[in-house]
Amino acid sequence: MNLIDNVTGPLADDEPTPPFPQDLTKWALFLDVDGTLLDIAPSPDAVIVRPELPGLLSSLSEALDGALALVTGREIAVIDRLFDPLKFAVGGIHGAELRFPDGERRGAPPHPDLPRIVEDLQAFARANEGILVEAKGRAVAIHYRLNPELGEAVEACVRGSVEKAESGLEVQPGKMVVEVRPGRADKGQAMIAFLDEAPYLGRMPLMIGDDWTDEAGFRVANDRGGRSIRVGRDKRLTEAHESLADPAAVIEWLSEMLIHAALMPEKN
Ligand SMILES: [Mg+2]
Repeated sequence: MNLIDNVTGPLADDEPTPPFPQDLTKWALFLDVDGTLLDIAPSPDAVIVRPELPGLLSSLSEALDGALALVTGREIAVIDRLFDPLKFAVGGIHGAELRFPDGERRGAPPHPDLPRIVEDLQAFARANEGILVEAKGRAVAIHYRLNPELGEAVEACVRGSVEKAESGLEVQPGKMVVEVRPGRADKGQAMIAFLDEAPYLGRMPLMIGDDWTDEAGFRVANDRGGRSIRVGRDKRLTEAHESLADPAAVIEWLSEMLIHAALMPEKN
């Protein structure tokens, strides 16, 4: 396959084409699927996978030593059907289900900020009588039944602590208790989970996506010294720093990135 055959020329407006990463061994690639790699279709079942796409993703994954994952609202099983027989690492259902490059599947891990939040609440409990902190894996509850007057202060403490966290946690006040638990999963959390482990560990994230649900991913990419590329030319607000016009442009860019990487001197 000659990847250069698909070059379609300059982008539609004056935004520059994002430069290619210099050394793929330093990068982890996170790709949304619908609207990013596949054109949006009238119905989700009607999407068309360009024939060169599965092979391209496979070659990219290899060039990245496996540090590539698809992050999508779709289920992993549906992604597998689309790219059959290839199986990629996937953060499915916005990260609620994860499959790593070695095929291992698991639910999303506990939120990375939870231990710090538990510590904040325990400090509050030490400073105030009648406060109990109950850490329970992916969630934490703080009870004030023994000192009901502290209800507002407890909730303020919890919200203050959660506000400092990366997205993905929800504050749920109850009867004499305030709970912090995982909110709806998002693509940013999925990326964080991948980035905690080899082969993603220690690499800078490069995230490409087209939609609101990709913004959490862009934020993680930006926060971690990586890059964020939004697909589409409408001028809506986005946290992404760079852009590509459409899925065809994404595929072309990824293909050229691969050629560029192959032309780089041998890594040592
Ligand atoms: Mg999309």
